[in-house]
Parts: sequence; structure tokens; C-alpha cells
Amino acid sequence: MLPLDPQADIGRRAWVACPNCNDRDGCTACQDRRTCRDHWRYLLSNTGSLLHLQCPSCLHIWTHESGFGATRSRWGDSTGDVGRQ
Ligand SMILES: [Zn+2]
Ligand SMILES: [Zn+2]
Repeated sequence: MLPLDPQADIGRRAWVACPNCNDRDGCTACQDRRTCRDHWRYLLSNTGSLLHLQCPSCLHIWTHESGFGATRSRWGDSTGDVGRQ
């Protein structure tokens, strides 16, 4: 089993389904998309809208595309497409 990533910080969490285990299966809080106190993932780091997560239940590490684009400030800004012909 993998060790917990040294970047794992309980102060930085994300509520995303783990692709490796179904620990939130049958949990009403998760089904309602609430911030469940039992089922959450460590947010190790993020690159733009891509989140690097670790599941505390099975210690699986994966990346998740959140679609938020937190650091891409010009995303969707049509005035920025200078190179388009
Ligand atoms: Zn898991
Ligand atoms: Zn839950």
C-alpha cells in the first residue's frame, strides 16, 4: 500500500469520487453532493483546473479535471485569440 503523500494536508480537501474505491457508496450526504465529513480526498496540489488528489481510504492518487480553471484568468476571453486567422 502506498504511504500518505507528504503533501497531504487535512486543511486542503476536495469532495470528489474516488475512481479506485466506492467508499461513498450508499452515503446520503455524498449523494446530495454535500461536503461529507467522512468521504473527502486530500488535495495534494493543482495545476490550473487539474487537481491532484489522494484518497484517504485506499491511498489511491489520481488527477481530476475540475473544469473551474482557477488560475486561467483569460480562459474564455475571446479578445485573447490573436493568432487566429
Ligand atoms: Zn479510494
Ligand atoms: Zn459520504
